[in-house]
Amino acid sequence: MGTFDGLTAVVTGGASGIGLATATLLAARGARVACLDLFPGVPGDLGASGAPGVPEPLLGVRADVTDDASVRAAVAEAADRLGGIDILVNNAGIGAQGGIEDNDDDEWRRVFDVNVFGMVRVARAALPYLRASRAAAIVNTCSIAATAGLPQRVLYSSTKGAVLSMTRAMAADLVAEGVRVNCVNPGTADTPWVSRLLEAAPDPEEERRALSARQPMGRLVSADEVAEAVAYLASPLSGSTTGTDLAVDGGMHGL
Ligand code: NAD
Repeated sequence: MGTFDGLTAVVTGGASGIGLATATLLAARGARVACLDLFPGVPGDLGASGAPGVPEPLLGVRADVTDDASVRAAVAEAADRLGGIDILVNNAGIGAQGGIEDNDDDEWRRVFDVNVFGMVRVARAALPYLRASRAAAIVNTCSIAATAGLPQRVLYSSTKGAVLSMTRAMAADLVAEGVRVNCVNPGTADTPWVSRLLEAAPDPEEERRALSARQPMGRLVSADEVAEAVAYLASPLSGSTTGTDLAVDGGMHGL
């Protein structure tokens, strides 16, 4: 018996990193899971099951979280193919670097459109299905950036601050309807996103060592460790927990 036997889950940003690790873990524990993602570089129909980069039994469903029509169609398709939605992992996100003077209005709108409004759109589309579930849970991927005051991350941190506030306020609104809402706050996690950042450095391996050395535990957080935290908050095992945030950050939060 798996923790998620008989349950269904939608994971946004499910084709990479934390999203893919979470989708894989939920499926291994018995959930039927749809990964909503852009599937960049994959032209045309994703096929009846799976999708390039999303191994079976995971379903791939193309969605752009910045486009409301795309989100509504993808959530409806996922619910149809899975037979409802019990769990929403609102995880799709993009990064941004720089101080307060470094990003123009268009960049602020672009990053908020993915990281904040994207989660709003997907939650709105999924709520009718979640309300019909006996084990409804939303888990948003936030970040330690929401509260840590990281240098050169003003825009990104602001989006994650909004995600944290949204999580708490949604939890208050939805608790009486049986829909729990929580978030995870990863520290620097070893995902394709961070690999891309490291590859842009003159010496990627040296940069990786330096970045690891700056972490309290001397290493990056793994996507699988974040996935375990998401799985806990998504599961009936955390049935009395709502409106909280769980740090998975190698101790950064506590220092
Ligand atoms: P990643 O780049 O490996 O994966 C993100 C996925 O989101 C990609 O598959 C991408 O295609 C998808 N995506 C981006 N824009 C989208 C859109 N408009 N519509 C649909 N899908 C879209 O990144 P990751 O490191 O796994 O990050 C996942 C989440 O974790 C993000 O919300 C990020 O802010 C958060 N996070 C990451 C770290 C880290 O260090 N990696 C730390 C804290 C929080």
